[in-house]
Amino acid sequence: MTRVAFIGLGNMGGGMAANQAKAGREVMAFDLSAAALDRARGQGCKAAPSASQAVAGADVVITMLPAGAHVRKVYAEDILPHAPKSALLVDCSTIDVDSARAVAAQAKAAGFRFADAPVSGGTAAADAGTLAFMVGCDEPDFAAVEAALEPMSRITIRAGDHGAGQAAKICNNMVLGISMIGVCEAFALAEKLGLDGERFFEIASKSSGQCWSLTSYCPWPGPVPAAPSNRGYEGGFATAMMLKDLKLAQEAAAKAGAAAPLGAAAEGLYALFDRLGGGGKDFSAILEMLRGHAPPPAA
Ligand code: NAD
Repeated sequence: MTRVAFIGLGNMGGGMAANQAKAGREVMAFDLSAAALDRARGQGCKAAPSASQAVAGADVVITMLPAGAHVRKVYAEDILPHAPKSALLVDCSTIDVDSARAVAAQAKAAGFRFADAPVSGGTAAADAGTLAFMVGCDEPDFAAVEAALEPMSRITIRAGDHGAGQAAKICNNMVLGISMIGVCEAFALAEKLGLDGERFFEIASKSSGQCWSLTSYCPWPGPVPAAPSNRGYEGGFATAMMLKDLKLAQEAAAKAGAAAPLGAAAEGLYALFDRLGGGGKDFSAILEMLRGHAPPPAA
């Protein structure tokens, strides 16, 4: 039986680890949060007492952590010193390209196979096992990476060498951050013009305004039942996380000499919503700010 160590059982990692267990793999799970670890135990995973104990004896190590600093620390202190050299190491967090390349170099120097494999799809796809993975790895390792991710994935695409998965992810999320604000502005304007939100959805979703932010993740409550807008913008993809990704895109754009003015504007608007208290809410809650409302109260 394949032994999977899974570190980071939050909004995304919780469902992803559960799908590894559902596929019949032995999952040793670890998170700093006792509540997250309890949830994983209830979904067929075994709770490890520490990250280093989770990775001992693993065939595959998967991390789903908040940001680059967490990934660098867990790799340096827990994974590289304690995992068997035969283990395949896959980081699914969204982090900066430099951290991904630094961790890849350390892993390679220590004799491991490593892949950066950030995801697209949100918490519903994490729970359903239908995420899209974008992978940066050595070409010969890709088949093993694809097999390791299979219980959690709808599609897995190799973007290129180490760091390329993260490059694809921050470019994708820059599109998402900008498009969500566009959709929210349209709903706020439709409301001021006296147009019913559900009717606007019906028309725009069949017209040229159609996009993922509208039809799969609608910020206006009602038309898309699985969207966080129907549960007070709880869970989902936190504004603070979107802000992190847009900052990563701006840093990368500045380093690469690329122009990304709409990305910069979107970063400024999410930063404002974060300062107003919306950082813990799903990023589609920025609709409330654009409607001139206060952020919805925390749960
Ligand atoms: P989250 O904050 O819900 O989960 C992160 C988990 O990591 C937490 O449970 C935290 O306790 C744990 N953690 C932090 N440091 C740790 C350590 N040293 N050891 C063990 N556990 C530790 O975040 P999330 O929404 O699950 O996102 C995780 C990653 O996935 C982020 O990089 C995010 O950008 C990316 N992502 C999120 C979504 C989404 O919709 N939420 C979508 C795509 C990608």
